[in-house]
Amino acid sequence: MANDVVKDIFVIGGGINGCGIARDAAGRGYSVVLAEMKDFAAGTSSASTKLIHGGLRYLEHYEFRLVREALMEREVLWAMAPHVIWPLRFVLPYQKGGIRPAWLIRLGLFLYDHIGGRKLLPSTRTLDMRSDPAGRPLKKLFAKAFEYSDGWVDDARLVVLNARDAADRGAEIRVGTRVVSARRKNGHWDVETENVASGDREIVKAKMLVNASGPWVDKVLSRALGQNQVHNVRLVQGSHIVVRKKFADPRAYFFQNPDGRIIFAIPYQDEFTLIGTTDRDYEGDPGDARISDEEIDYLCRSASEYFVEPVRREDIVWTYSGVRPLFDDGASKAQEATRDYVLKLDGTGRQAPLLNVFGGKLTTYRRLAESALDRIGEAIGEKGQRWTAGSHLPGGDFGVGAFEAQVDGLLRRYPFLAAAHARRLVRLYGTRAATLLGEARSIGDLGRHFGSDLYELEIRWLMAEEWALHAEDVLWRRTKRGLQLTAEEAEALESYMAEARQPPN
Ligand SMILES: Cc1cc2nc3c(=O)[nH]c(=O)nc-3n(C[C@H](O)[C@H](O)[C@H](O)COP(=O)(O)OP(=O)(O)OC[C@H]3O[C@@H](n4cnc5c(N)ncnc54)[C@H](O)[C@@H]3O)c2cc1C
Repeated sequence: MANDVVKDIFVIGGGINGCGIARDAAGRGYSVVLAEMKDFAAGTSSASTKLIHGGLRYLEHYEFRLVREALMEREVLWAMAPHVIWPLRFVLPYQKGGIRPAWLIRLGLFLYDHIGGRKLLPSTRTLDMRSDPAGRPLKKLFAKAFEYSDGWVDDARLVVLNARDAADRGAEIRVGTRVVSARRKNGHWDVETENVASGDREIVKAKMLVNASGPWVDKVLSRALGQNQVHNVRLVQGSHIVVRKKFADPRAYFFQNPDGRIIFAIPYQDEFTLIGTTDRDYEGDPGDARISDEEIDYLCRSASEYFVEPVRREDIVWTYSGVRPLFDDGASKAQEATRDYVLKLDGTGRQAPLLNVFGGKLTTYRRLAESALDRIGEAIGEKGQRWTAGSHLPGGDFGVGAFEAQVDGLLRRYPFLAAAHARRLVRLYGTRAATLLGEARSIGDLGRHFGSDLYELEIRWLMAEEWALHAEDVLWRRTKRGLQLTAEEAEALESYMAEARQPPN
């Protein structure tokens, strides 16, 4: 089926970069179509360490531009989405004669505090680990630590909120839709898409194509666009383990390993600790990345160097792996490859333009989108102006200090909710939690119970407003309740959603 309307922009990929570009473009008045072959954030964007951070470690690799931009983005993004992003303090234990000298760490943290437009986040301080509670779960090797600020983000929700906002501003959003080919024709693109469930194919015409397919970017160039000799990105796998809570402190830890790498141990969903990540070159389909035995051993061993109580394989309740699509700058070690993004515009004169997106961080996605829009403007004509700084993502229209007030307000309006349930709803949906709950007057009004604090009303909302198709989308990306539901409960949810997906006869 072909449609003769020529859209301005076709975006391939529903990760943070594709959704961020689609949102920015739709807000400027471009007509936009975005196709995601699986689900939003099903690729790298839900497999991150979930930090909105400057990247203290990148200073060692002289990535000053990236670090400065990332630091500046911390408070911009926090104000944009204070429900899914919040500040987190990090404790970096320091040992005399350790991996890095104290002056180097101090210098890094000085830059961290002073080059990044920090207004609200507290500055760095030094801790006496013999008296500070942060010292309690750690071995008594560390007399001192540095404590500094960065941010936490629910990565997959950041993506879907960008998609939601793009759609609210007029973008056409398609999930479960793979781009199979794209050909230049009469000055525009003919993009062939396939509905993965039905196999139905369609041609969409667009003036410009944006390839934001993350770790698939080279594959899309070679398979869908028929280019030869494609090698732009270095695929670097990173894995995490989740274990039962290792410490009660609300702060996260930054551990330095003898190999020069670092890992984080972060409080996760009240009951758990998230530990990661690894860095190793990856070959194969990015969708197949799984943690290896070697990576499990590495993470357990590295964390156990620090914690009094060792981290054992048996403690692991969940693992996940993602593949970084790093621009290949020829660095020898995976951990040294640049984390900065690169945008390349292809197509000159009368050729329909193609913009390829390489690399990038969740933290810098908004700036990446602005740069992409500059290039898009050059290629097909400018529309609108930069607008996303100072904007709010759906549900994020409240002050950064007002999260608790939002929870209290929701509890007053819906007194039948447990406090933890109300908190979770505000974390996920912000001011839209009340829209989701609507006229509910009792827990029974939330409909069928699927386990933990998941009810039918929320599932219906996620299907209608956030493109959730399968239990996996709900459990591991939209709500991250996967760790709380049993396999039987997850199966029952899948059956329910399969039925709800069927159009009425
Ligand atoms: C282990 C790890 C930890 C990280 N930690 C952090 C962190 O703490 N903070 C931070 O800021 N950044 C972090 N990052 C980096 C960040 O996660 C990535 O840079 C970012 O998610 C990449 O987003 P993307 O949109 O480019 O790619 P993706 O999220 O992979 O999105 C690409 C999408 O394209 C889709 N796609 C592919 N081919 C097609 C096709 N033919 N048709 C339609 N759709 C297609 C895929 O299904 C996928 O959803 C981390 C990365 C990793 C791997």
